[in-house]
Amino acid sequence: MSTTRDPHDTISRRSFLKLAGLGSLAIPAGSADASIWEAFFRKSFREMNRDEVGAMLERLERRYAEEHGYQLAVKVTGPLPGVKYGYGLDLSRCVGCRRCVYGCVQENNQSRDPQLHWITVLRFAKGEKWVNDLERADAYYHAEAVPEDGYFYMPVQCQHCEDSPCEKACPTKATWREPDGIVVIDYDWCIGCRFCMAACPYGARRFNWGEPGLPAAELNPDTHYLGNRPRPKGVVEKCSFCIQRVRENPGRYPACVEICPVGARKFGNLLDPASEIRYCIDNKRVFRLKEDLNTNPKFFYFFAT
Ligand code: SF4
Ligand code: SF4
Repeated sequence: MSTTRDPHDTISRRSFLKLAGLGSLAIPAGSADASIWEAFFRKSFREMNRDEVGAMLERLERRYAEEHGYQLAVKVTGPLPGVKYGYGLDLSRCVGCRRCVYGCVQENNQSRDPQLHWITVLRFAKGEKWVNDLERADAYYHAEAVPEDGYFYMPVQCQHCEDSPCEKACPTKATWREPDGIVVIDYDWCIGCRFCMAACPYGARRFNWGEPGLPAAELNPDTHYLGNRPRPKGVVEKCSFCIQRVRENPGRYPACVEICPVGARKFGNLLDPASEIRYCIDNKRVFRLKEDLNTNPKFFYFFAT
């Protein structure tokens, strides 16, 4: 084995833990391969100092370039002070075109083959009173033209819950809520157990069953460590409110907000009384999905007209 390769090249965190559990991983102390120990027993991302984070990012960027030909920058931009993000969705405007779905795929480097989407647009028949029962909606509708008579559409993605059940379910603390309210995942810390998926009442998390297929030519090179950097097989991923965009100063809207052709999507700082999202909450009849579960989502739905 090469002495300079990043250990992630040859062994996944999950398989390493399995081997360690079986007692079958014997790496001679002091050998070059001891770098495997360094990577797998490194501090968690939240405990690393600046230099440690810098070294890790350098390793990551090198690995992406060597393995996939991805030339990209991985940022670790932290939360802005005085900001808590919230999202609004005007169901009276959404036409079910799924442009948000594909805009998100492109921006966030989701696998093209097999296809993986962080946003699901659900179709409901008008008059239905069970929007909380997400499983009963049609997520696979094929329409020649939208909007269709007799239906309305409700896009669903991570609701960035204040009391997030996924966070509580994760045995490795690979997922957590940041001070600006974004629920993030450290893919290097995730062991792919999928407890978080079982815990999420909104079906918002996706598992990489196969090696993600993302051609280098289609890569968005502007990435964040806790968001849209390319993921490996065997880890969970989901919407991060486009952390790589919104945490810039000045920030940019999430890609789905920007691409929506009818302005159904709203986004902003819940702590700013003059923000658009606060206007929606203060002036529209908003509701949140599965409110009775006390997950306290920061995703607000409403009918503006
Ligand atoms: S699959 Fe989910 S619960 Fe399991 S380690 Fe990864 S983030 Fe945590
Ligand atoms: S919507 Fe699901 S994945 Fe997102 S914070 Fe809530 S429980 Fe976690």
